[in-house]
Amino acid sequence: MKKAFVIFLSIVLLFGAVSIAVPATAPTAAAASSSSGGFVGGFAEKLQQAIRSFFNWLLSLFRKAPSPAPEIEVDEPTALPPTQPDVPTSATQTTTESTAICDSEPSSGSTTTTGEAQTLPDMETLVFQPSWEYASFSAIHTDSVKLYHSKATPRKNKTVCVNAGHGTKGGDQQFTLCHPDGSAKVTGGSTAAGATQATAVSGGTTFLDGTPEAEATLSLALLVKEKLLAAGYDVLMIREDDDAQLDNIARTVFANNCADCHIALHYDSSTTDKGLFYCGVPNVASYRNMEPVKSHFEAHTALGEALLQGARAESIKIYSSGRVNIDLTQTSYSTVPSVDLEVGDRASDHGATQQGKIADGIVRGVNAFFG
Ligand SMILES: [Zn+2]
Repeated sequence: MKKAFVIFLSIVLLFGAVSIAVPATAPTAAAASSSSGGFVGGFAEKLQQAIRSFFNWLLSLFRKAPSPAPEIEVDEPTALPPTQPDVPTSATQTTTESTAICDSEPSSGSTTTTGEAQTLPDMETLVFQPSWEYASFSAIHTDSVKLYHSKATPRKNKTVCVNAGHGTKGGDQQFTLCHPDGSAKVTGGSTAAGATQATAVSGGTTFLDGTPEAEATLSLALLVKEKLLAAGYDVLMIREDDDAQLDNIARTVFANNCADCHIALHYDSSTTDKGLFYCGVPNVASYRNMEPVKSHFEAHTALGEALLQGARAESIKIYSSGRVNIDLTQTSYSTVPSVDLEVGDRASDHGATQQGKIADGIVRGVNAFFG
């Protein structure tokens, strides 16, 4: 076998040497002896060129001997888009964009230096990772989200996920499991008690003035984002326009992996302007014994109560005790402190001034929560 290869290589080398020695423009022997000179000569020339190319390729192999294969394989995430992160060129750059994935434990500690803040990009685009816990339960997750880094001093070194409720085109045409263990919902809500599946993202309600809920939750989310950034928090924005192809589970999984808490913003479907409340985890044993609810429902309550405290400090109208127990997809999959905050209803003022007050209340609540 080895012998045959050596013979083959020798023949190729010989042909190659001859091909190189004879200039490409010189008439070949075949061409010269050909009476027609056209077809046969052309063929011979092509053959010679092919042999020359092959020989040159063979030479190039010897010139650039391949380096030995690395022993450590680089673990490259499969879902990253093909673009490489843009490295910020200056600390004052405001439109930096990069692509990253999150650690399962996003940030820790309570202080950081201003120098560290300057090395962070203003914004990173984060891509959904199918390997994340509960990711496989999501039906809609083709969009990425944006992580904004605060440039305020001091930085809080905490990331708040701001989830503008609804705003997923086609979200009500797909269905996801209410609970990761497949069990039925223990309370009613937009999905009835007893159901095991819910719409991936519902369309949301409509204000009495005709404004879609998704539009009002978006304008509020953008206000909350700016105020949190100014207060030193990093902000994970689930949605910043009228369509984010991310269902409730995908949004929750993003928050679980890339944020320290998750605040979903909603307006309720009642028409009495009854006031703000948060959705608490129902006191039903089977539900509270199901993971991840079991390990996290107390943290959800702590966040909800802190947000109520913030809203009260801004004199926001509060509905009853400020807590309504509802079995939600969001909290059924949350592994970070997580709250659905209903900031009003279809009859409520959703203008910029009122939303500014609500946003201030949310920042106060977040401050109270992280203490
Ligand atoms: Zn809603």
